[in-house]
Amino acid sequence: MKDSKSPPDFVARIVRSIPKSGIRDFFDIVNNVPDAISLGVGEPGFPTPWHIRDAAMYALEKGATAYTSNLGLPELRRRISKYVAQFFGIEYSPTDEILVTTGVSEAVDLAFRATLDPGDEVLYHEPCYVSYRPVVELAHGRPVVLNTRYEEDFRLTADAVAAKIGPRTKALILNFPNNPTGATLEPSDLEGIAELARRHDLLVVTDEIYSELTYEGTHRAIASLPGLRERTLLLHGLSKAWAMTGFRLGYACGPRPLIDAMMTIHQYTMLCAPTLSQWAGLEAFEQVDADVAEMRSRFRRNRNYMVAAFREMGLPLIVPRGAFYAFPRVSGLGMSGREFALALLEEEKVAVVPGEAFGAGGADFVRCSYSTSLENVKEAMQRMARFVSSVSGTRSSVARS
Ligand code: PLP
Repeated sequence: MKDSKSPPDFVARIVRSIPKSGIRDFFDIVNNVPDAISLGVGEPGFPTPWHIRDAAMYALEKGATAYTSNLGLPELRRRISKYVAQFFGIEYSPTDEILVTTGVSEAVDLAFRATLDPGDEVLYHEPCYVSYRPVVELAHGRPVVLNTRYEEDFRLTADAVAAKIGPRTKALILNFPNNPTGATLEPSDLEGIAELARRHDLLVVTDEIYSELTYEGTHRAIASLPGLRERTLLLHGLSKAWAMTGFRLGYACGPRPLIDAMMTIHQYTMLCAPTLSQWAGLEAFEQVDADVAEMRSRFRRNRNYMVAAFREMGLPLIVPRGAFYAFPRVSGLGMSGREFALALLEEEKVAVVPGEAFGAGGADFVRCSYSTSLENVKEAMQRMARFVSSVSGTRSSVARS
């Protein structure tokens, strides 16, 4: 019998079973250290380019304060269609194959709610962005993890995918360049995975949010491979490469029946993406080459600095080939990623994210974002070097005694 004094618990079982994001959890601790330098956040450390902010203000001045079409402004969908054709080499009709969403986050949620029946399995690779597993579970699907490993440069191989395909496998989610490892997909891996998707009739959901932020080689989206367009949902947005996280603007491109199914949910739950952000988004495509080139060159410079600093400290890491994160392994210092992050925050006031937030395979690592200013990166790396050398010194004197 329920205790009559305890407050009623209305929370659904499925929601109770989902842990809070490890990033949020850690940032509750960081927020108590107000003067910490943060390498923790997954967003550019500077505001959106001025001409885009100006367009948002102009839209407000014009009184563009009403709902738009559920699919998004027609002119924005046309512009997205043109951009996706140029950048990814894939054609989508702005009329019924593109849905403007409230960030990629909404698009990921819609993709799974629109396609999964209870018990359908979704393959996803770890370490990965924090939302995939909970979103699949909330859609009553079964997430099946594919572990990527430091020793293999966090590559996702076709063999690793093939090993987990079973009779209930319905979909595969891909995010390369990857948050948190910075890994990209090798062309041979991409082709092998595409072949598996064709052979096993899988839906592929690709989170392309970091595609423009590729520093080595050329990014290729799996939807551009033969036979993949009709089985892929390509999800993208303006948060990262345009520094527009707060605008909450994303989009989904895919075959008409899938976009239509996502739209069925979107029209009842979101109505439309924020109108002012859609106008700002339209402007974002006006100077896309220059804006994105500027972002990429800032991040590449910060990346090179950070990688060199980690090498000097002797912390092993793969050279991140994309996105804006470095993922060094700290277990050689005799600490888990979480212990390292807590001690670094306490002793040197530098915030990094424990790798366990991105899946159990990340427990020996920490994620350090280099999307902040170069000055911050430099100062944070100096403090980290001091911390690492004091930890190594303590360990070697313990070993000697
Ligand atoms: N996907 C990945 C891989 C991310 O790293 C993030 C944010 O960190 C998102 C999606 C969220 O994107 P949005 O701001 O467009 O919702």
